[in-house]
Amino acid sequence: MNYLAEYIWIDGTSPTAKLRSKTKVVSTGAEPTTWGFDGSSTNQAAGHASDRVLEPAFICPDPIRGGDNVLVLCEVLNTDGTPHHSNTRAELAPVSDRFAAHAPVFGIEQEYTFFDGTRPLGFPVGGFPAAQGGYYCGVGADEIFGRQIVEKHLERCLTAGLSISGINAEVMPGQWEFQVGPVGPLEVSDQLWVARWLLYRTAEEYGVTVTLDPKPVKGDWNGAGAHTNFSTNTMRQSYAAIVAACEALGEGSKPLDHVKNYGAGIDDRLTGLHETAPWNEYSYGVSDRGASVRIPWQVQRDGKGYIEDRRPNANVDPYVVTRLIVDTCCTALEETGLI
Ligand code: ADP
Ligand code: MN
Ligand code: MN
Ligand code: MN
Repeated sequence: MNYLAEYIWIDGTSPTAKLRSKTKVVSTGAEPTTWGFDGSSTNQAAGHASDRVLEPAFICPDPIRGGDNVLVLCEVLNTDGTPHHSNTRAELAPVSDRFAAHAPVFGIEQEYTFFDGTRPLGFPVGGFPAAQGGYYCGVGADEIFGRQIVEKHLERCLTAGLSISGINAEVMPGQWEFQVGPVGPLEVSDQLWVARWLLYRTAEEYGVTVTLDPKPVKGDWNGAGAHTNFSTNTMRQSYAAIVAACEALGEGSKPLDHVKNYGAGIDDRLTGLHETAPWNEYSYGVSDRGASVRIPWQVQRDGKGYIEDRRPNANVDPYVVTRLIVDTCCTALEETGLI
């Protein structure tokens, strides 16, 4: 007897990596083990030394094939066992370990846009739909495009055991969001990559494509982000720690260090319009959707909770954004004794 293991990995495409996958038939009772692939076809190796290694990192039930079949998210290694330079998970793991005592958790809001050929789903041929205003969390065939896919994706994420916490229709037609978390940095990142794969794979069945392009339509249309909600043990207990984390993200070179790693094309999206702050000006505020970092109103009321970094693009690598936020905020919290 056999089961199927879908090995999924993140490739070396620049500036934004793509997901790849292939199937392995595994004997019942055996675990999905180390495997390999042709790195010269994924921008991860040269043709004369093309072998790269797939090391299973996160395994969950395969909600598409069902039964005993599994999805296997992998790290990419070189043949000597060292992490490949595209392997950002390997950089997050030691940072996550170093600050484990803070119990950092993340909830990431993944926005994305469906495309039908060259048009966003719901855009009329050769023109534009009615201006933004009615689509966000809307209902009805004149406002909502792709709900069947969204519902199927949600169901599959839940069957896979992912910590999806919600979905909503977004401000532009054909644009949607799902949230993963709150869970730890490695967990949220692994789960977000698998949820992205399930999204592409589900939309494929409907002949629709998905893009994480941060500004899929130029002009007066909202971009697509990946708001990153974050808290530590002390932030969940004190407002001083909330403020310290917001201040830490604004210190010295931190705003730029973060923003340049928050996804390709960030200056196209963080313009200061469409519920964003300009990419080169750091700010934070309560309830402020025009700030870089928002403190939700109930966090101010309760004097504790979490913060929302609104800057990451939809195409951000979650292994990178969680590493940067944990490193910056937890280092500062330790310096102020707020651990
Ligand atoms: P928005 O109002 O910005 O659209 P959402 O409801 O879409 O907010 O997303 C909020 C996210 O914050 C969810 O993923 C949720 O799980 C996460 N979250 C809630 N509490 C915490 C917390 N204490 N730490 C980190 N993330 C949290
Ligand atoms: Mn949201
Ligand atoms: Mn949103
Ligand atoms: Mn948000």
